[in-house]
Amino acid sequence: MLTEVTGLILRSVNVGESDRLITVFTKEMGNVTAMVKGARSLRNKNMPSTQQYCYSSIILYKKGDKLWVRESNLIEGFFGIRESLDRLGLAGYIVEVLSEVTTAEPDAELLRLSLNCLYAISSGKYPLEKIKAAFEIRALSIIGFMPEVLSCRDCHKSSSDFFFDIMGGNIQCRACRDDYILKNPIIDPASTESRIVTLLSEGARTALAYLVHCPQERLFSFSVSDEDMKLVSNACEEYLVNQLERSFKSLDFYKEVRH
Ligand SMILES: [Zn+2]
Repeated sequence: MLTEVTGLILRSVNVGESDRLITVFTKEMGNVTAMVKGARSLRNKNMPSTQQYCYSSIILYKKGDKLWVRESNLIEGFFGIRESLDRLGLAGYIVEVLSEVTTAEPDAELLRLSLNCLYAISSGKYPLEKIKAAFEIRALSIIGFMPEVLSCRDCHKSSSDFFFDIMGGNIQCRACRDDYILKNPIIDPASTESRIVTLLSEGARTALAYLVHCPQERLFSFSVSDEDMKLVSNACEEYLVNQLERSFKSLDFYKEVRH
């Protein structure tokens, strides 16, 4: 039986002499793995549309216990991604995170976010820091880790300096945090037992809340000072790495080539 899907190629691994094993985040079936026969030959019609970062329509069939690609057609290649190492690094990080969080359940919103971010990288229209932070916090929000960043968890104030509790996924204003530390003297800020917190200025908190709650098509249309952007970047990255409880090789690579 043939099944038609559309999806983003997250990984493409060479197998044997000329075949390819692809991992695709599809609109219809979530994360799918399939073999592409002869895909590394330049003459193969499936070669250009089964490479990493391609968004393609794919016809699958089942043989034995494996899925195979009968035919594939490129919808969007995001070719601008390959124009610089830092663009490639960020795209690599996005697909590595997707490989970690996608399942056999479809997730149209997460797929749309991923395509928007890859398009933004490829177009060169937005700073990579903005795209990275937006992807991190929004992807986590979509998969069930939406942080509460609209106001202080204790007094519900929305203007102040804030501390973002990375593990708890909420924020505390400076006054409430001082009060909390006073009442819980056992919490030594230097100890590894203390929760991971990152500082958010008022501007950084506003930007973070925007990234979590804005309509997706307006995701990169926010303005923030360079200083506040650094706080946002740090908060989003810490949140992703700690909530998913793992490190990402591609993130290390991105940071290496970005500086
Ligand atoms: Zn407060």
